[in-house]
Amino acid sequence: MAVMINIALFGPPGAGKGTQAKLLVEAYNICHISTGDILRREMREQSPLGLEAKEFIDSGRLVSDEIIVKIIEKTIKSNPGSRGFLFDGFPRTYLQSYILEGVMSKLHKKLCCLISIEIPEDVTVARLIERGKTSGRSDDNEAVIRERLKEYYKKTLPVLTYFEEVGICFRVNGNDTVENVHRHIRKIIDKQLK
Ligand code: AMP
Repeated sequence: MAVMINIALFGPPGAGKGTQAKLLVEAYNICHISTGDILRREMREQSPLGLEAKEFIDSGRLVSDEIIVKIIEKTIKSNPGSRGFLFDGFPRTYLQSYILEGVMSKLHKKLCCLISIEIPEDVTVARLIERGKTSGRSDDNEAVIRERLKEYYKKTLPVLTYFEEVGICFRVNGNDTVENVHRHIRKIIDKQLK
């Protein structure tokens, strides 16, 4: 059986995870799981889950780990033939890191690496304000962006420590061209797959 490729993309809002994710799922032919995209779809459809998540997303806070586990398990199970998964915006709390390991081992899968896209705070804020002009996202405005960054520093950064201890955390400079960041990430993944 071909080797499975499971990757997590990590970084603050505006680091370029979504852009890099699109390139990577194409390059490795794996399934893209963006918890943010899934939640926004649920919000548009006004599903119970979407309605529950809306209040958190609109104020820049993280939604509960319980909601995220449901989404992850459901998406993995509904793509059984996939060559692997690219997690975009997950895990986002220390607990979600444990959950990911648990879900993976339950399904006899393993995370190959967590790629952290690093970028200075002023650049992320400027990028998100710019994106907000066309994204139509309720959370791409300055007040909510500041809240999202606060959540990131408080709850999400510890994820790095978790994966550093596991030994599969790799950092890339995100303040570069899309092509250069992509090349750097591919080098890391290809080395891990050897
Ligand atoms: P994103 O599109 O990744 O920037 O996510 C948008 C919003 O969705 C975040 O600000 C959170 O409110 C929520 N969200 C997305 N992924 C997660 C996650 N893994 N854990 C908790 N909340 C999340």
